[in-house]
Order: sequence, then structure tokens, then C-alpha cells
Amino acid sequence: MCGTDKRSDPCPIITKSLSSDSIINLDHGDPTMYKEYWERMGDKCSITITGWQSLSYFSNTSNICWFLEPEFEKEVRRIHSVVGNAVADHYHIVVGNGSSQLFQAALYALSPANALQPMNVVSAAPYYSSYPALTEFLKSGLYKWAGDACNFDKEEPYIELVTSPNNPDGFIREAVANCRKLGKLVHDLAYYWPQYTAITAPADHDVMLFTVSKCTGHAGTRIGWALVKDREVARKMTKFIELNTIGVSKDSQLRAAKILQVLSNCCECARPGETENFFEHFRGQMTERWDRLRGVVKGSDLFSLPEYPVEFCNFFGDFFEAQPAFAWLKCGEEIEDCESFLKNHKIITRSGRHFGENSKYVRISMLDKDNTFNLLLQRMSTIIQNTH
Ligand code: PMP
Repeated sequence: MCGTDKRSDPCPIITKSLSSDSIINLDHGDPTMYKEYWERMGDKCSITITGWQSLSYFSNTSNICWFLEPEFEKEVRRIHSVVGNAVADHYHIVVGNGSSQLFQAALYALSPANALQPMNVVSAAPYYSSYPALTEFLKSGLYKWAGDACNFDKEEPYIELVTSPNNPDGFIREAVANCRKLGKLVHDLAYYWPQYTAITAPADHDVMLFTVSKCTGHAGTRIGWALVKDREVARKMTKFIELNTIGVSKDSQLRAAKILQVLSNCCECARPGETENFFEHFRGQMTERWDRLRGVVKGSDLFSLPEYPVEFCNFFGDFFEAQPAFAWLKCGEEIEDCESFLKNHKIITRSGRHFGENSKYVRISMLDKDNTFNLLLQRMSTIIQNTH
């Protein structure tokens, strides 16, 4: 999936060919919307890495997570304190190759090594479509995918994945499985940032996963982090990453540290209303996109979108309605398979089936570039007009 941006032109063939009848691919949540902002920031985030840096495997041997760069750790703690979305003090930080690796590290760390049965892994439907695949692909003896948390009624130990705001539907969530005594929780907070949802309180769960992919848009830097309350869980997660990739690129950590530093600086220094303020800028952009999408869908029997509660955001000091990174679109009665229907109109989305829902639903990325998003709206209004 390539861009349409004339200035940098990384993919000239697709750049030229994004026309009114090209296929638009909104299946992935590729955060290319963020590019234009970072381009405007010029070299504010540039760092120089000299030839003699990043030689050792080790970053800080006195830390449980011995490959965690101190500069990155400092900026992670700082951004959480600036935004107020999670308690980081007294938590251990484990850095990962994206939060995808940390997810697997958490399953490893929370599953007993000597159990007779693999640990059940559940999440309430609709759940993030990668959870079943990530849980099952190595056919581990330690854990197994056990489906929708709402239907889990076995008297057996389990790990529940709580994604909040949720991917795909954007709602704020709490744990749902009912035998809490036997359950361990992993909170995936990839989207708990103020451009997507109101920050109502600092999260303080046992294991919380974050990623730069959805916070700043730097998905290709492959950096995520876990805030972990328990020392032993942090140690086991670190062990998983040690055995899996012997740590995490120092170069990427330093780059992510710089980006988070610029973000915290801009939150602390930019006055409200200034476009330099990253979260304010993208909250505005997401509001505009959601307003326009709702405007297109409004009054049509063909499609509908979820409604979100208005909540007070401590970060912005005002009320607003969630504006998620994905649109969870439902088709009307006459369409059984929304993904195929939209595919016939050259819009690639991800079917509700991948999320434990039915095929009336699709997930559409709201984080693509302006041109792609505009084309989506144009095409959806044409479909709606033509079916009236
Ligand atoms: N968790 C959720 C809920 C996500 O949506 C994603 C990305 N789509 C991830 C984790 C993985 O993020 P990363 O790029 O850090 O591996």
C-alpha cells in the first residue's frame, strides 16, 4: 500500500495511478496519515547515530530489561506523565519489537511452565484479528486460543486480552470473563491516546501494552513497550524477547526516544490551538474525518456506524466523543457480505469474520492519507446515491 504524496514520491507507479477508479486498500491500519505532520516538523526528530554506537548487546545490565535504552525508558515515563493515560512510576518497562512481540512475551510470562493443559487465551468479540493467529501460529504447549471471552465459562485458568479503546470497534472496554480468580489480564492500550479517545484516568493495570505505531504513527520503527507491575512477569517477558530476538534494536529505541521527546516537548510548550501541538492537531484531523464519514453515511439504510459516549478528557480539559482509528461499519439488511460488496466497488476492508463477528461488519482504516480517505468518501457516497 503506497502513498499518494507528490513531495516524497516513494512509490511513483502507485502515486500516479491513484485515480477515481483505483483500488483503495483500507484493510491494514497503516498510519500514513501522520506523515504530513512529521514532514512539517522537518529535522526536529533527526538523530545522528555514529559508527561506534550500538555495538554492545547490552543497554543497562542493572535493569531487569537489560536491553532497554535508558533514554527510551526516560521518554516513555515522561510521555505517560505528560498525557496522563497510564501510571508508569513503579512499573517495570519492557521494550519490544512492536507491541506484537510484547503480546507474545506476555502470554509466555503469564502461562505456567509446568501446567498439564495449555492456558486459555480469550478476548471479547469483536477482538483484534491478530490475537487468534499470534496465539496459535507456533502451536505452543503453553497457551491456546479459546475464543470470545463472553462465552468462556470453563473453571480453568485463562488470560483475557482487554483492548481499550478496542480494535476494531473503538469502544472503551473492561474485562468480561467471569471467573476472575482464575484469570490474568493483559491490557492492550495501543489506542489510549487523546487523538482517538478521551483520557479519563491514568490506567494502572497489571500488564499494559503500548506502541509508537498508533501513538505517533511510526509503525515502521517497530517499537512498543509494556508497563508491568510484577517484577517476575517483567523478568519472564524480558526472557522471551532475549530468546526470540536477543533484545530490541538500540537504533530504533533511540529514534523512538527522540520522537517521544519531541512529542512531550510540544505538549508542554505549544499553546492550545497551535498546530505544533501533535495531539491537538490529530484530534482535529480525526474529528474532521469522522464528521465527514458520518455525513456520508447519515440517513442511508445501506451503512451504519457505532455511536460513542461523550466523555471528559483530562488531557484536553473538555468533553468529546471517541473518534477511533478504525470505522466499524455495518451493512444494511440487503447486504450479507459487506467485505465482498465493498470489494466490488474497489474498496478493500477487513470482514467482521476475522474479529469473531459476522460478515455484515467490516473494519476500515481511518489512518490513511488524505487522498485515499477522500476517495473512500467519494466512493461511498456514489454507492449510497446509486442504491436509492
Ligand atoms: N494491538 C493492537 C490493538 C493493534 O491494533 C496493533 C496494530 N494494528 C498492535 C497491537 C500491534 O502494534 P505493533 O505495530 O506495535 O506491533
